[in-house]
Amino acid sequence: MTEEGLDLRGLLEFQDNRRCIDCGTGKSEYVLIDFGGFVCKTCFLLHSDLGLKNKLQHITDPITDQDLKQMVFGGNSALYEYWEVYDLNYKAISFKYLTLSAVYYKEMLASLRVNGNYYRDFLSLEKAKQLSQQSFDDRTPEPEPRPQKLKEKIEEAWEKLSLTLSDIIKTIKTKLKIHP
Ligand SMILES: [Zn+2]
Repeated sequence: MTEEGLDLRGLLEFQDNRRCIDCGTGKSEYVLIDFGGFVCKTCFLLHSDLGLKNKLQHITDPITDQDLKQMVFGGNSALYEYWEVYDLNYKAISFKYLTLSAVYYKEMLASLRVNGNYYRDFLSLEKAKQLSQQSFDDRTPEPEPRPQKLKEKIEEAWEKLSLTLSDIIKTIKTKLKIHP
């Protein structure tokens, strides 16, 4: 468990995290660690049925520092904005989470969390909707980092998020000529 009561429930203070990222109506009860997304029970079951190696867990389950940091970096509003770029927000879970854009987002989030940046070229609209074999592949777990002061880490992560993740999404939108 985490120190000072910092756990996933704390992130529900952000309004966008309270409602399911996938159906938009269900109450958030589970999380998609790899996507930094919060989902309802119904959508969680659909994710489980996909049989992917993505990390899923209940909001009240113990969480590692790294996974928590990933959730701080991510969050539903960032994921929503990203899916919006590729017009995937209202597509089925069994489709959008298997696309190249899903793999791209996972990589971007993990890279931002670990390195504070992400340099891969953005996906074209067409490419983003192609299915990815990598979605099905086993993922290598990252080694656990040395324990640090979690609260500071989260604050630092949050500052970086507001600069980097939304900037990247904005850049993607601009380059693809999508206007909000
Ligand atoms: Zn849902």
